[in-house]
Amino acid sequence: MLDQALTRLDDAARYLDLDADVLEKLKYPRETTKVRLMIRMDDGSRKSFMAWRCRYDDTRGPTKGGIRFHPDSTMEEVETLAFWMTFKCAVMNLPYGGGKGAVRIDPHTLSKAELERLSRAYIQAFSKIIGPDRDVPAPDVYTNSMVMGWMADEYASIVGEATPAVITGKPIALGGSLGRDDATARGGYYLVRRLAQQLGLEPGARVAVQGFGNAGQHIARLLATDGYKIVAVSDSKGAVHCSSGLDIGMLLAAKGRGSVASLAGSEGIFSLPADDLVSVDCELLVPAALEDMIHEGNAASVKARVVLELANGPITPEADEILSRKNVMVLPDILANAGGVTVSYFEWVQNRQGYYWPVEEVHARLKTMMEREADAIWALSQEKTITLRSAAYVHALARLAGAIEAHGTQQ
Ligand code: GLU
Repeated sequence: MLDQALTRLDDAARYLDLDADVLEKLKYPRETTKVRLMIRMDDGSRKSFMAWRCRYDDTRGPTKGGIRFHPDSTMEEVETLAFWMTFKCAVMNLPYGGGKGAVRIDPHTLSKAELERLSRAYIQAFSKIIGPDRDVPAPDVYTNSMVMGWMADEYASIVGEATPAVITGKPIALGGSLGRDDATARGGYYLVRRLAQQLGLEPGARVAVQGFGNAGQHIARLLATDGYKIVAVSDSKGAVHCSSGLDIGMLLAAKGRGSVASLAGSEGIFSLPADDLVSVDCELLVPAALEDMIHEGNAASVKARVVLELANGPITPEADEILSRKNVMVLPDILANAGGVTVSYFEWVQNRQGYYWPVEEVHARLKTMMEREADAIWALSQEKTITLRSAAYVHALARLAGAIEAHGTQQ
């Protein structure tokens, strides 16, 4: 998995005149810590779970990246996600390196009290690794602001003082930022709107959304509000299709009952195997779930003209090539979903200043930054006739290389 991700680095290096040291530094994670967490279950027994935290590269600042709770997490996945965070933060010019963490657990099998004990145990295990100037976690797949709140609280009791800037994506009551909840989707939305003309994606265009978690729900809402038609949505239990457009309120209510699939059977709404979502007839496909969802086996069936990668790594390198041959334009994850970490950065800044911004300011600053980097990456892809993914990597790698070289060469 990391090997596959590193092919993007080699590809980008071809367009820059780089010192060999730069690639040597970026090819390996700097440190990955592995701990077995023990927690007390409600029935009195104790259970243990594997947990990791990777600090991939800290050349540009403290490492930054989420913590996921997922039954399939592995160390290699964590390192790959941390590699992507390194490039994502550089794409957005945030003063951060890249990190990531995970616990191998299905959090849906835990009670709320067990989940809280697990979240606290994670911070107890990694309290020496994280810190506002060292490594700053945040939410990721199956973690949320409630989990971040417990983690911030645990860190505060370990170090003996409130330290809100140690973690982002916190509840507003504990120093979270307004606008962090929908930031990942909103960044992608600003990107689509900025490039709408070039991409031929004006309102009215049909959209299919894979995954109806935080990112999927908010992108569907934001695009629907502007007049885009959400024709298909999936979650892990199934998918629904409606050629005249799905109602977001109904989708949210169905998700609240367990799955969007329960909407099938209502007027004009048909069920679909979740795997078929990627081949729905539409103009914009939004993978907003997990890695490797579009692969060699299904890439040829994609009908959309544009793919907005709200998930991390949803397209394998093989699928990327198939899509590029089909002239499908991919808005790459390290730009498309960077709204989340960008507003995390705003949260960290507000925590350190002790001064909090209105939501309008968060939105305006996010929009400015997304548009600035989108314009630069678009121009680079035109100038060098390369994909937007390659251009995003070149753009980030140039910043990383500048920082690596500026740090000096004597070690
Ligand atoms: N987990 C999110 C991501 O993959 C956000 C990370 C952060 O806010 O630090 O970008």
